[in-house]
Amino acid sequence: MTSARADRGRFARLGLHRAIDFALHLPLRYEDLTQITPLRGLVPGVSVQVRGVVSATDSGPRRGSNLTVRLFDGSGEITLRFLHAQPWIRAVLLPGRTILAHGLVRGGLFGLEMVHPTVRADDEGAPLPDRLMPIYPTVAGIGQSALRTAIRSALREADLGETIPPDLIRELAIPGFAEAIKSLHTPLPADVPPEGEEDDRQSPPWRRIILDELIAQQLALARARSARDQVGAAPLRDDAMERRLLAKLPFRLTSAQARVVSEIGGDLGASRAMHRLLQGDVGSGKTVVAALAAARAIGSGWQVALMAPTEILAEQHWLKLRPWLEPLGIRVAWLTGSLRGTEKRAVRAAIASGEVDLAIGTHALVEETTAFPRLGLAIVDEQHRFGVAQRLALVGADALRAHLLMMSATPIPRTLAMSYCADLDLSVIDELPPGRSPIVTRVIDAGRRDEVAHRVRQAVVDGRQAYWVCPLVEESETMDLKDATETAVWLSDQLPDLRVGLVHGRLHASDKAKVMADFQAGEIDVLVSTTVIEVGVDVPNASLMVIEHAERFGLAQLHQLRGRVGRGSAASACVLLASYPMSAVAKERLGIIRDTQDGFEIARRDLLLRGPGEFLGARQSGLPMLRFADLERDVDLLEMARRIAGQMLGDKAGQAINVNRHLDRWLGGRTALATV
Ligand code: ADP
Ligand code: MG
Repeated sequence: MTSARADRGRFARLGLHRAIDFALHLPLRYEDLTQITPLRGLVPGVSVQVRGVVSATDSGPRRGSNLTVRLFDGSGEITLRFLHAQPWIRAVLLPGRTILAHGLVRGGLFGLEMVHPTVRADDEGAPLPDRLMPIYPTVAGIGQSALRTAIRSALREADLGETIPPDLIRELAIPGFAEAIKSLHTPLPADVPPEGEEDDRQSPPWRRIILDELIAQQLALARARSARDQVGAAPLRDDAMERRLLAKLPFRLTSAQARVVSEIGGDLGASRAMHRLLQGDVGSGKTVVAALAAARAIGSGWQVALMAPTEILAEQHWLKLRPWLEPLGIRVAWLTGSLRGTEKRAVRAAIASGEVDLAIGTHALVEETTAFPRLGLAIVDEQHRFGVAQRLALVGADALRAHLLMMSATPIPRTLAMSYCADLDLSVIDELPPGRSPIVTRVIDAGRRDEVAHRVRQAVVDGRQAYWVCPLVEESETMDLKDATETAVWLSDQLPDLRVGLVHGRLHASDKAKVMADFQAGEIDVLVSTTVIEVGVDVPNASLMVIEHAERFGLAQLHQLRGRVGRGSAASACVLLASYPMSAVAKERLGIIRDTQDGFEIARRDLLLRGPGEFLGARQSGLPMLRFADLERDVDLLEMARRIAGQMLGDKAGQAINVNRHLDRWLGGRTALATV
């Protein structure tokens, strides 16, 4: 016998600690042991319980060998097969004994059979249960019967009291929480649709539980938001510097940009910290919006940090923003992990003394040793690349009082925006700058690389430039590098008259910068690269993008890469070199990218292919994930959850206690994470 303490240790592996955790550990499916199906009526493909007498066994009592048993009930017969049958199974399956067996019926070599059914002796003919038998999700070493026992006793202990206002329960005609939980653990046969017929998570008790899970998420995000609001932030109201920058720009803002700039300006002027997500497809012009926000903050006497996920991207910002901002008297600094120790210390000192107005860099900016005495605004570019955890880290520490602007080219589908990002305000640039031409996308067999090399030459002859991207090889950075290096050598052989450049992650930062600057200046015709250029690089004269092993890339990556071209007036193209055979999903991805250029549509399809956790990079972040809700299927519940959460939070008098109980029930010890 195992002790209760050992059990607790085991159950912790399933995330089960408190009684309520057990109560919320809901069955995957059920076994119907409430009735017995006569052997004559059996058909392959269904799971049933049968009862009969063991007529013959075909193997000796040797332990570990296979066992085959015939069972008959007067109406028909069936074969039961066990591989490496345990002694206790042999002890039950003796000829002449009456047994119950439950399992999936299938057509075998010798007629109908069940492989590894659950069996028990039934010589007495014990009464059948009237409820279904739950089968729980579990891990190796934790058996169903131990789980069932633990859950049964937890259901008696747990607080299953109602947290949703009773009038709402009546109005929405949903079951009570306790009722829903109990009926999911031990339903009557009539409560559950037959196997495979429909999604049983659409049943009223399931919908009630999913609704509660979504309400918990909404409440947690709302809490996080109000915690931030209570801290407050400096209002950034002086827009003289911003207006000077606007007047100097070489182009006019699109109306979408102008709208977004004014949304951000409104937030910055308030004394509660902005938390805004700026979404705009690749090439929609987010950088200038960030620059205007930075100018306003600096003009109001505050410092700004601009953080990008990669060094190359940070560098692009550095190259772009300095010529815009330095003439206005703004002091811009550069801080990344690859700076030498002494340089880093000098930059940090300049930031700490307030000499620096704008610091551009990578995550080195949020390390503890970087202290901004007057941080007014933090900007995070391509925020999806940081994951939710870093987003929260940035909000923490001394940045808590700063306004926060996040930018993302990965459009977040509405349902995700409403759930995972519900604590953020959203601005969308839904318009590209004028003069863009569409990009023609083709999937070409990798065997035809030579022809593609000639297209590259043609583009260069026409006065354009090209990218040639090699994929990341996950296991080995060295392989990755070899691919790109070999490709660069091969291309120089094929196109001896062209200037071929190479950039990859292992290059020293200053060399990387030199290559990028040369490409920008048109001194390199073809830039061979690993995925370091994935996001944000901006060279309008480049009109051709070639992607090697396109089948290895994700949808968002392909869309990002393709977005590097089509930025100038020239007709642009993207060639996806594909190697066969490839998986069905890879094929589907290439088809989607070939046929659509709409970032939102691509994101929607991506979400369908990958699921929300991976999509947002939330999996590794530890942010509470949804266990039961499916944001595609349960949109209506999400809307309902928002409404109910709003009502619960708004009702000062009665609901605060229920809000706490609800959050505690669903998030338990994890609430701290949700309230950063
Ligand atoms: P992204 O949104 O992908 O970060 P960028 O900010 O890099 O896009 O902008 C893409 C290109 O479009 C840049 O060269 C930028 O200078 C240019 N651009 C931005 N806004 C406009 C505009 N309103 N009119 C013309 N060009 C613009
Ligand atoms: Mg960008």
